[in-house]
Amino acid sequence: MTIDLEQLDADYLAQVRYALAFISEDVVSYDIDAAAKKITIELGPGADEAEVRTRVGEILSRYDQSQFGMKTVVDFEQKRDLPALDAWAGMLERRWATPVGDGHVVLRGPAALLMALVDHKVDSIFAEEFGAELEYFPSTIKSETLHRCNHFTSFPEHMDFVAHLKQDLGVLKHFSDSCRDKGWSPELHDGTMSRSDFAISPSCCYHAYEAMEGWELEKPGRCLTATLHCHRYEGANHKYMSRLRAFTMREVVWVGHPAYIISGRARAEQLIIQWAKDWELSCRFETANDMFFTDDYAVKASFQRQQQGKKELRLDVPSEGRSISCFSSNFHSTTFGKAFGISVAGRPATSGCIAWGYERWVYALLSQFGFRPEEWPAGLRDDYERFVRDRRTTLPARAATPE
Ligand SMILES: [Zn+2]
Repeated sequence: MTIDLEQLDADYLAQVRYALAFISEDVVSYDIDAAAKKITIELGPGADEAEVRTRVGEILSRYDQSQFGMKTVVDFEQKRDLPALDAWAGMLERRWATPVGDGHVVLRGPAALLMALVDHKVDSIFAEEFGAELEYFPSTIKSETLHRCNHFTSFPEHMDFVAHLKQDLGVLKHFSDSCRDKGWSPELHDGTMSRSDFAISPSCCYHAYEAMEGWELEKPGRCLTATLHCHRYEGANHKYMSRLRAFTMREVVWVGHPAYIISGRARAEQLIIQWAKDWELSCRFETANDMFFTDDYAVKASFQRQQQGKKELRLDVPSEGRSISCFSSNFHSTTFGKAFGISVAGRPATSGCIAWGYERWVYALLSQFGFRPEEWPAGLRDDYERFVRDRRTTLPARAATPE
């Protein structure tokens, strides 16, 4: 079936493209053709075409922002004329990446080293600058916590929930016997799972706030840093490495007095722009909004943009003809301070965070600059070569240390 498009704004199309992945399990695939002003949808057998058409209509009007001021402020832009290089195909060919399931990928070789380099830069530039305390978080998080953070009302579509088999001897025996006799299959989980009370965390910083519940901070507050393996289920959007279901997020988080958060965030934005200049990245740093998956999308998105609550560093991926958000700077006001009773000098604490999506950095860097470090921009090449050299000298020495 085909549906006509009224609007062709790039932001609008990107948001519609993302949301269409979740409208119905009857949708096998879809394509947005901006030139022909059409959406083409392939339906599975027995699909209810009228129902799908209604839902597409809902999505199209949800993301229609024409009555709101969805202003984009560009703080920094650096464009480079780059060849369209298929980094994903190149990584597979070189075995720098191996997909291990929908939106799951194993990285190795220079791709793994690039990711470690980005992590090292975050430590040496940002964690250092802000004196961020190191914290370690579990990958899973209580669903109750996500509810208190209002996550489910804004982003229900991408949740990956966790459950275990029922604590029931019969269920456990049947599961194990079936696996032995007939092999594992997804059907074995039907009716055999316990109630789900945890989810794989979709973001890094929620644990920071729940773990500080009831804390009274001294002025100006505290700064911490953590890395988390997060999950976001993205339906048909899992293609290449732009949207993985399992990915690595690094954050620096501030909790405390508003001025402390605002100045930290402003300094971090200067530092990320400097990083983009040093590596000659083809990119834009601009105001943005979250992809709220709700009917009041335009209200929430417009509010977030007006407050400049979110800014993103978007790196170009020439082969996909678009950019991907690889770093974001976020201001949450007192949302989490109030939700978890965190205070500073007797008032609800404010918070903010900056976040890196590591796999996207690797994908964007290889997409922009190719697979030969000697051809990379000098700043990136020098950082990479120094980093690899240092690892080579330290790794064997550590391994040789007697137990
Ligand atoms: Zn965060």
